[in-house]
Amino acid sequence: MSVVTVARTVPFLDLSSVTDEVRNRVLHRWGELLDDNRFIGGEAVSSFEDRFAAYCGTPYAVGMANGTDALQLTLRALGIGAGSEVVLPANSFVATAEAVVLAGATPVFADVDPQTLLLTPATIEAALTARTQAVIAVHLYGRTPDMDAVLECAARHGVLVIEDAAQAQGATWGDRRAGSMGVAGCFSFYPGKNLGAFGDAGAVVTRDPALTERLRALRDHGRVGDAHYDHGYVGTNSRLDALQAIVLEAKLERLDAWNAARSELMAIYRSQIDPTRAAPVEDLPGGRGIHHLAVVRVSERDTLRAALADGGISTGVHYPIAIHRMGPYAEYARGRLPVAELAAREVLSLPMYPHLHPDDARYVAEQVNQHAAVRRP
Ligand SMILES: *Cc1c(COP(=O)(O)O)cnc(C)c1O
Repeated sequence: MSVVTVARTVPFLDLSSVTDEVRNRVLHRWGELLDDNRFIGGEAVSSFEDRFAAYCGTPYAVGMANGTDALQLTLRALGIGAGSEVVLPANSFVATAEAVVLAGATPVFADVDPQTLLLTPATIEAALTARTQAVIAVHLYGRTPDMDAVLECAARHGVLVIEDAAQAQGATWGDRRAGSMGVAGCFSFYPGKNLGAFGDAGAVVTRDPALTERLRALRDHGRVGDAHYDHGYVGTNSRLDALQAIVLEAKLERLDAWNAARSELMAIYRSQIDPTRAAPVEDLPGGRGIHHLAVVRVSERDTLRAALADGGISTGVHYPIAIHRMGPYAEYARGRLPVAELAAREVLSLPMYPHLHPDDARYVAEQVNQHAAVRRP
């Protein structure tokens, strides 16, 4: 007689159930689109834009090809380019900085709060100069910074706030949605985001009608008015595909339920993981995050990742290198950013997606408690 143990595997991210929930609706509407052959623009795109704007609580949404273009074209539409500085946190996905450089402006990296890993007025002020035109508030892991404090600080210094809400579809600060608080909110709908397309997509939401018009022109070769060959700006091609708009509209209806499922999983991690071994990145009481990633801080991360992998658990690291320490961005560094640099060594992202089974989350917590070293004080 032999005892058969079935190895458990917990993937870091599994989108198959999310895809299955919208599969029939998407295939039906894709069929209609193929009958019409209206692949660029049209009703599918404007319908999603209207719904996403309403969801975010803004009058306008402009679909884009991806989140990086959403940021870059927002900067360009606001006239932020050569000679302007833009402050952003050093512990973001590289695209936040990439967009600033692509727009022709200079990225200035700010440090972050040690508990939340988000910008604060103090870390913003340490990075401001007379050339600063804007701050990009990154809603890292699905949580906004204290947006009242960030907006007040920016207003006091006469700089704009742009929200990088790529990880925060549906998050709130007070009663306002992520993306609706700054001059513009920039979203990515990369498949792994909480609201994700079946490919690349993005959007900008705003209350400003003039900015909306410039963004609509910039994403479409600078076209102005109704004439197909009247190009009022040097734009680019960054349109949202009708095929992706259909996917996004179907998924938007389920986003709140999916975010709620993530929140229950996060509660399991928070209640069951020993914080002396793996300390969850803290949330601010004034906001409601959407748990894009479930991030804990550990020491001896590589050893723990290997032990978890042996137990069938896949993990991620967001992000292993602060942006100002990366080759192409080092030239913009203005000294050490100790909190962001330490976070890069300590952060570990645990499995997190809406259909992750609660028993699997409990198993992850158990394995973390068993294998994580006690953290240095
Ligand atoms: C994903 C992401 C982006 C970029 O979005 P893409 O659609 O991949 O271009 C920008 N900022 C942050 C914080 C992101 O997580």
